[in-house]
Amino acid sequence: MQARLSSGHRSLRGLASTWTRTLGYHGPATMNDPAIPTDTLDRLKAIVGPRGYIADEAGKAAYLNDERDMFHGLSPLVLRPASTGEVAAIVTLCSEARVGIVPQGGNTGLVGGSVPTRSGSEVVVSLARMNKVRELDAINYTMTVEAGCVLAEVQTAAREASRLFPLSLAAEGSCQIGGNLSTNAGGTAVLRYGNAKDLVLGLEVVLASGEIWNGLRRLRKDNTGYDLKQLFLGAEGSLGVVTAAVLKLFPLPADCATALVAMPDVHAAPRLLAMLREVSGDTITTFEYMHRACLDVLAAYTDLADPFDEPYQHYALVELTSSRRDADLHPLLERALESAFEDGVAVNAVIASSGAQAKRLWRMRESLPEAQKNLGAGIKFDVSVPVSRVPEFILRATKFCEEAIEGARVVAFGHIGDGNVHFNLMQPEAADVASFLARGTEITTRVYDITAELDGSFSAEHGIGMLKKHELERYKSPIELQLMRTLKQTLDPHNIMNPGKVL
Ligand SMILES: Cc1cc2nc3c(=O)[nH]c(=O)nc-3n(C[C@H](O)[C@H](O)[C@H](O)COP(=O)(O)OP(=O)(O)OC[C@H]3O[C@@H](n4cnc5c(N)ncnc54)[C@H](O)[C@@H]3O)c2cc1C
Repeated sequence: MQARLSSGHRSLRGLASTWTRTLGYHGPATMNDPAIPTDTLDRLKAIVGPRGYIADEAGKAAYLNDERDMFHGLSPLVLRPASTGEVAAIVTLCSEARVGIVPQGGNTGLVGGSVPTRSGSEVVVSLARMNKVRELDAINYTMTVEAGCVLAEVQTAAREASRLFPLSLAAEGSCQIGGNLSTNAGGTAVLRYGNAKDLVLGLEVVLASGEIWNGLRRLRKDNTGYDLKQLFLGAEGSLGVVTAAVLKLFPLPADCATALVAMPDVHAAPRLLAMLREVSGDTITTFEYMHRACLDVLAAYTDLADPFDEPYQHYALVELTSSRRDADLHPLLERALESAFEDGVAVNAVIASSGAQAKRLWRMRESLPEAQKNLGAGIKFDVSVPVSRVPEFILRATKFCEEAIEGARVVAFGHIGDGNVHFNLMQPEAADVASFLARGTEITTRVYDITAELDGSFSAEHGIGMLKKHELERYKSPIELQLMRTLKQTLDPHNIMNPGKVL
């Protein structure tokens, strides 16, 4: 097998969608109409003290504009509380005064959930100053952290105690654990460890009434009625402010084997994954799909050349990990791939023979969002379908898109071990961008319809925020929507928690 790779580093930030920019919320500013009374603002400032708020325009800018530069909110005040008590006092006052609250973490969300609307009647509550690790119990394999801890710092704290916190995504240097839990973030290790929701044992939440719910339980078994924490996980700040969480930890991986595998066709992908799960003793942590177009983009715009001697159409980045030092994952992966060649679900592979080579393979996957920007405007999707139906989704969506817009280029990649495809349609070369983007709604609707026909989800990772409210109405059943509205009304009767988002 080939193995000729060199070292690299992980890329951070930067998934902009040119198309979605055109959908950006630039509605009329109405700050002067329902603006928050000055005495309420003064009382809010008094709760957090002079170090705990930002009221000047320049200082507020980073909190009012979203990661993709699509949503530009208005708010008279950004609050930066330093304790759960301060959050509770803020929410109590906002509840009495009927002032909207926008909880904010690292503001890396991709659907406009973390910034205010343009009504000017909401305050931003940034959790950034609540960034302490309250406890790490290595024997119980748990850590209790405040919501404002940056994800990379949570990972580091766990590693220093010889434990793994497995949530990992490209925004980990700036996103916060409160934001990760509120969006139920996924990332690159979901296949093995689950989404953010699966990594939580307990929560502390300030409810819309201002009361503090202390659910910071460190129990792996607790069947005492409804699992209330699940209500707040993935709720995008629409039901309460998460102030702290008990996270699950795992043994640190001691052995790791990474490969880029070329497959004969897209149908081979789920079959290869299923086979690897079986023969590797379910040590597979990563299974990331990349289409040929991805390797072409990398070769054209980065230093990451195709590691194979000949081109293939479909690839999977595969990683096995184990906490056993004697797991011998490298030979295990080699044997598994030999079986895959025999079964016809793989045609070639490069296996990293050093940490630097593994990093370089990872860099191929992680550089893609940034590299594909060079192709111009794009219409982008973050969908999921059952893993076994991923090939059908990719084939049907590609056929539709290529027929709909002559010369448009499909760039498909993603966490297909979780059924999650980042399916991107890039403009034809030298096309008129405006007319390409004008087809956005039509293309999006059809691709989402295909997703729905395959029992999939139109938003696998990024949530609803302001961007996908329309789709929620279209694809959720009436009974699900009614249940969601009932929960919202019960937990937030005055609609102060992140108004205008999700529902
Ligand atoms: C380069 C890049 C890569 C990404 N990769 C992935 C990926 O692989 N998988 C994935 O799932 N996402 C990914 N994302 C999206 C984003 O990083 C995640 O959704 C992340 O979890 C958001 O965390 P945050 O702290 O930035 O939250 P924010 O953006 O600040 O907020 C997100 C939502 O959560 C709410 N919220 C934030 N904190 C709290 C709190 N304490 N209490 C209640 N509500 C709160 C906000 O109101 C908002 O609705 C990526 C983003 C970027 C820019």
